[in-house]
Parts: sequence; structure tokens; C-alpha cells
Amino acid sequence: MATRHNWTKEEILEIYNKPLMELLYEAATVHREHHDPNTVQVSTLLSIKTGGCPEDCGYCPQAARYHTDLEGNDLMSVNQVKAQALRAKEAGSSRVCMGAAWRNVKDGQEFDNVLEMVRTINKLDMEVCCTLGMITENQAQRLAEAGLYAYNHNLDTSEEYYKEVISTRGYEDRLQTIDNVRKTNVTVCSGGIIGMGESTDDRAGMLVALSTLNPQPESVPINALVPVEGTPMEEQEPVSIWEMVRMVATTRIVMPETQVRLSAGRTQMSREGQAMCFFAGANSIFAGDKLLTTPNPDVNEDMEMFRELGLNPQKAFEKKEQRESVEAEDSKYQNLGEKPKWSRPGHKIERNLEAQQKVKPKA
Ligand code: SF4
Repeated sequence: MATRHNWTKEEILEIYNKPLMELLYEAATVHREHHDPNTVQVSTLLSIKTGGCPEDCGYCPQAARYHTDLEGNDLMSVNQVKAQALRAKEAGSSRVCMGAAWRNVKDGQEFDNVLEMVRTINKLDMEVCCTLGMITENQAQRLAEAGLYAYNHNLDTSEEYYKEVISTRGYEDRLQTIDNVRKTNVTVCSGGIIGMGESTDDRAGMLVALSTLNPQPESVPINALVPVEGTPMEEQEPVSIWEMVRMVATTRIVMPETQVRLSAGRTQMSREGQAMCFFAGANSIFAGDKLLTTPNPDVNEDMEMFRELGLNPQKAFEKKEQRESVEAEDSKYQNLGEKPKWSRPGHKIERNLEAQQKVKPKA
């Protein structure tokens, strides 16, 4: 089946709501046409700068305004990142994804350090991905030149429901960042979260937004919300495995070429549940005991699951060749000191405001 870029919400809902056995069969068939069903990519997510974020994303313990137990950290050093990347490589990861809790990238020393981290990991022959918030085209070009393989910027949910989750930046900004990355040779990673109180319509709406991008994102993470105490979504009911399987299968059908990434929420899933997700077309996981700030299965447990299921970790650069890293002194892009005007809608989201006003109980 050729990749389509004109999926409608109705068509996607029809797929999502199919009898489960039919949905699984169809998704597994598409999966086999485009991928080796026994190969799963293992990525390691590294929080290089934790907490203290000025945004109000309702699911996120890193937002400074909510009262969670999270311990923040300033930007890690290049050497610390290198040591962690080497450990991840030894444990079987082929990709390192570095996350920083920033609203957007600011030109300056910290960004220069991140560029050096990108060069360092690329030279370890690992795929390197960053998730740093909104970026301009020039910043995307500088990351590309340093050897970045992928940039992650999630759409999170549908455009309509997004207004119930975040008030400090607009959906348009997200699409703009993805567009800026697309102007370079860096691949796009963009997905979302289910279980935030959104409807099935919203889930389909998010898949419309992602699948109608041309080209579609090379990687689409599907997260199940991990409710964290102190965040506006602390009382959200966990999603069932059936919803996760349906979401993975539908994503696979509408985006046949993409790597569908089983992301946050794996600790709540049984091995059988995860196996069903792999059957439905998931072909990437995050490894390591932490996913930025929320718990994740231990690497050894994952490797045991791989053995049980007969899965093999995907090798680095299997989908796209490695880029050479250009050294800082040879760069043809300058630090422009840009101050882009990203939007700040600023509408009221009751549950976000309530969480912000709550007083943290004394330990
Ligand atoms: S999701 Fe990212 S942008 Fe939103 S609050 Fe968390 S760290 Fe900040």
C-alpha cells in the first residue's frame, strides 16, 4: 500500500473502531510490507536539563508552576552526556534522544554545548535525536550540521483538545518547528499522548495532523499518560491496553513507513500487552529505567522480553545514512542571536490553574 497524505478523520475513526482482530490483522499486514516484524529499535532518552520549564503542559512534571517532587538539574556537561551515551550503547541502544525542558532554544553557550553533545554522540556511531522545544530554521540547520539524526517535537493531541492541555504556546508553533526541521536533512519525530481526557475523535484528529504532513514523520511516539502527583492530570484514569493497541495499529496503517514508538506508559503494560503492540506495528521502544522523569522498564527486563519474543534490536543508521559532523569552527551557519516571536495564547485552563494554586504538602 502506498503512503497516503489525505487521510480524513472519518476514515481514521473507521479504522480505529474496527473489530480488534480485523484491525490487528490489517495493521500487522501493513507492518510486514514495510518493515522486518522481528526488528525493534531501542532508544535511550536522556534528560540533559530537567525541570524548571516555564510552559504549562498539563501532563508534565517538569513545568515549574506545578508542585511535584521532581528534582531539577541544570544542563549536563558534554562529558556526562558522552559517558551516558556509551553506557546506553553497551546496553544495546542505537539511538540517544536528549531532552531539555526549554520553551524554545536560545542561541548562546548552552545551545553551543548541545551542538557539541550532538557531535560527540554522532562520533560514537549512534543516531542522535534532540527534543529542546521550539526551534528556528537557523537553529535546525546548525543541529543538522552538527550531525543530528532526528528532532522530536510532539503534537501531543488534536488541535481542538490541545487548548485544554497547554495555554502557553499554540498548535501552529508546533507545526512551524516541524516545518523548520523539515527544511534540513534531519528526520522528524512527532507523536502524542493518549489518556489525557481526550475523545477518540481527538486521537483521530492527531493522526490526521501527523499523517497529512508530507513527508510523514519518520518516527511517531505513542505515549500513554503517566499521571504524576501535583500535575493537573494527576487523577486521570490510566488508558487500557486495548486503547493503546488500537492507537498503535491505526498509526501503523495510516503511516506505513514510520517507526511507531511505544513510549511512556510501558511500566503499566504486561509483556503480553507489549507483544500485542509489536504485532500491531510498534517497532521502537525507549530503554532505561527513566523516561525523562517517569519510570520505565529496566534495560535487562527489556532484553529478556526481546529474547522471549525473538526480537532483534535495530542497528544504527539502518533507515538513513549517518551524517558527518561539521566542527564548530568550520560551521557555515552563524549564531544569529534570534529572538523569535512564538505565540502565547494565554487562555484559561481550569485544571492547570487549580494545580498551580495547590500548596505542596510539607514532607
Ligand atoms: S512538556 Fe516540555 S515544554 Fe511542556 S512543560 Fe514539560 S518540559 Fe516544558
